[in-house]
Amino acid sequence: VAKEQKRGSGEVFREQFEQESRNRMNLLNSLRIALEQKELYLMLQPKVDMQSTEVCGFEALIRWQHPVHGMIPPTAFIPTVEKSGLNYDLDLYVAERLCEILKAAPQMTAPVSLNISANSLNHDSFVGDFYQIFQRHQLETSRIQIEVTENALIHSDQSIVRLRELRELGFVMVLDDFGAGFSSLSYLLRLPLQVIKIDRTFVSEISDNEHAYQLLKGIIHIVQGLHMETVIEGVETEAQLARIRPLGVDQIQGYIYYPPLKVSEAFALLMPAQTS
Ligand code: C2E
Ligand code: MG
Ligand code: MG
Ligand code: MG
Repeated sequence: VAKEQKRGSGEVFREQFEQESRNRMNLLNSLRIALEQKELYLMLQPKVDMQSTEVCGFEALIRWQHPVHGMIPPTAFIPTVEKSGLNYDLDLYVAERLCEILKAAPQMTAPVSLNISANSLNHDSFVGDFYQIFQRHQLETSRIQIEVTENALIHSDQSIVRLRELRELGFVMVLDDFGAGFSSLSYLLRLPLQVIKIDRTFVSEISDNEHAYQLLKGIIHIVQGLHMETVIEGVETEAQLARIRPLGVDQIQGYIYYPPLKVSEAFALLMPAQTS
């Protein structure tokens, strides 16, 4: 009987696995089509300068407007994309869309960041393909910030070389989600970084955890000592902001100021107020 049951659960497991693979394949197939049909678009979340409390830049965040399933957030497809290799095409797609947005608003000169998958850095051709998009649109690379999430992959020598190449081409390099997952202080030494974005899990923890607060304080101190900029993401409440203010962080990105906005709404923030 035990043997029967075992085989039975093996069957179930195999079916589940096959079902999941099918789901993954379906997701990837629809994503490939979505990229061709341009069903994916960018929203812009403002970053706020802590000295002036003014908008000082944006992060481009992808959204998928599916014809049947409606709006699909990136957390629902980016992990699958990164396992499939489709991240390469997606990252170039995002760069292309971002260039179109910036070309359409020449009066807007604030820095804008985009996210790339660390996996894309495994490919020889990525840096060239990526850079070529900005060249073709004649956009200054110095206003483009590239956010990479810390990940075992960006620790490979090959990836570090590619990050250096991107930096030499003028892009500003940002380490995203610092403090989440397998953070290592050695990233700060090994990678060619100019901006460190501290993960939002820190923000939620500091309100009731004094050790987390002291750790955050220390991290910010270290990053400042290395002459890198600090951004904290995920600040949602006045109480969190009050805790963070004395720490001397350069920028804040969070719902307390703005959620991700439509491109037109984001740019309207930088326009002089219209008088009627
Ligand atoms: P991320 O790069 O760390 O982006 C910040 C995420 O935090 C965004 O979620 C943003 O909407 C959310 N956020 C900002 N402020 C707050 C806040 O105050 N509270 C809370 N709860 N959340 C806040 P989103 O847009 O869902 O993106 C999730 C992740 O998906 C991103 O994390 C990034 O890793 C990935 N992603 C998004 N767009 C792209 C893209 O174009 N390319 C790639 N490769 N990955 C992307
Ligand atoms: Mg990011
Ligand atoms: Mg992330
Ligand atoms: Mg982040």
